[in-house]
Amino acid sequence: MVGSKDLGGHRQPGDLWLGEIPRAFRPKVSCPRGGGKREGNDADDGRGDSDPALRHRRSVNAVNLTVRQCSCQRKLTVLRRSERPADSSGLRRVAYEPLEGTPIETSGTLPRTSQLARLLAVESDVVLDTSPGDAAASWLRAGDWRIYARPLLTGAPAGEEIERFVLPTGASVAAVLDREQDLPWIPFDLDEAYRNYVSEDWRQGVPPPSLSSRTLRAYYAAKPLIPRRLQIAARRIYTKRVGLPDFPAWPLDDSVLHLVRFYAFCLLLAAGAETLTFRWFWPGNFKSAAILTHDVESAEGLRLALEIADLEEERGLRSSFNVVASWYPVDEGVLRELRGRGFEIGLHGLRHDHSLFTTHEAFQSQLPAIDEAARAFEAQGFRSPSTHRVHQWLGELPLSYDCSVPHSDPLEPMPGGCCTLWPYFIDDVVEVPYTLPQDHTLFTVLQRTSAADWLGQLDAIEQRHGLIHCLSHPDPGYLGDRGNRSFYAELLDALAERPQLWKPLPRDLVDWWRRRDAGAQAENLSYGVIRRDGDGPFASLEPPP
Ligand SMILES: [Zn+2]
Repeated sequence: MVGSKDLGGHRQPGDLWLGEIPRAFRPKVSCPRGGGKREGNDADDGRGDSDPALRHRRSVNAVNLTVRQCSCQRKLTVLRRSERPADSSGLRRVAYEPLEGTPIETSGTLPRTSQLARLLAVESDVVLDTSPGDAAASWLRAGDWRIYARPLLTGAPAGEEIERFVLPTGASVAAVLDREQDLPWIPFDLDEAYRNYVSEDWRQGVPPPSLSSRTLRAYYAAKPLIPRRLQIAARRIYTKRVGLPDFPAWPLDDSVLHLVRFYAFCLLLAAGAETLTFRWFWPGNFKSAAILTHDVESAEGLRLALEIADLEEERGLRSSFNVVASWYPVDEGVLRELRGRGFEIGLHGLRHDHSLFTTHEAFQSQLPAIDEAARAFEAQGFRSPSTHRVHQWLGELPLSYDCSVPHSDPLEPMPGGCCTLWPYFIDDVVEVPYTLPQDHTLFTVLQRTSAADWLGQLDAIEQRHGLIHCLSHPDPGYLGDRGNRSFYAELLDALAERPQLWKPLPRDLVDWWRRRDAGAQAENLSYGVIRRDGDGPFASLEPPP
């Protein structure tokens, strides 16, 4: 057990140095780039950041580890275990546990710390050159695909063009198959591009018309005084006036899928192979996955939750109900019954307002009470009230997973989206994005009168082998209304009749995602195939047979 090693000498307690990791789990320390970026074997010698030889490094948070990384992305120094306390319910993994049986994959593809390489976990030693850019972050466009990242304006090798990306200035950069080395050269950091999607840092490129913190505070102060009908009418008018943003596309944005398929294509080029295998997204032979979550907004909503549970149970389905801890009377009997019938209880904040995200101090001051409420509810999952969020803070939540981030939702008080159809990690918290339009958005704001949008999205995500995740509410004005409930029943029917769709509880899906991430020992792990697909720079991702 790596983390249990006795650490002494001049280091701080908790520090872990590369030399203390068993050889089987060590990243390769050779830096394949020449010149000033070659960094010798300093991983074992404890030199600090002030050493000029280390100037290309940057900090990256990995699973339970803080890792210093050379900009070439292949050299890692493991410095320190996470000091965050383990959850007493055992939800947090023991520090360093993922390293058992899973070497840090730095000799091939992106390193273990790369979020993108953790999503598309390729079983290969193929080397891919991808470095951070040397100019300010901006949009890089190729056709209708756009990436927000720092472009690498210098150092492009001679070779065959793979894809050309146009910058807002009209200048362009190209991914190139290096003629000399026969390796793809990418004009931006692939992992940075991925992180800028899922962290919603793309906002820095195009600020969406979100409301300021001050406006939100004023809105929540005034909200109880405004009749609900007026609130909804105002929202409809606002939506019509503002319209839908260009990015992310709604209801489905293929940006991350494009990036993953482009990355996969470059891996094939680097390997000189027609196919490669990767850890499939879902257990066994399931082609895609679906989960159902509900936010309970009121005491009446909690009572109606039992009726929604009936609809699901009749079809062999189970879901999670996220309850607000201190906002309305919580009927413990209902929670007990739901748990007893195999449903999950999650936490929908302490209060249904914006208080959690006003400042980082305010956020942290609520964490002990959130922890206590989560234990009382036996909750492993969290959804922020009105899906307010600050990406990095979500990683501090004392729960196993969060599900506050939309795939693409331009119509919430905080519009935006992570553009992905798969879970991802924010530190040790698994983020499970919701990927279907919310019931309120479809039936109240947009006044849709059928389940067609949900069913279309279900088909589209299933074709892409992603996660179908429906967020709805049992309350009056949502699924509490007869018409909306019949649309929901149609969605449930469509889910129930698809045997290739995995339909776990959200917490079981999160448990799977952790085990898959931990490595090849995971039970039920199967392998998908990356294959060249037509003439474009995108590989296909094929499920296990
Ligand atoms: Zn809510």
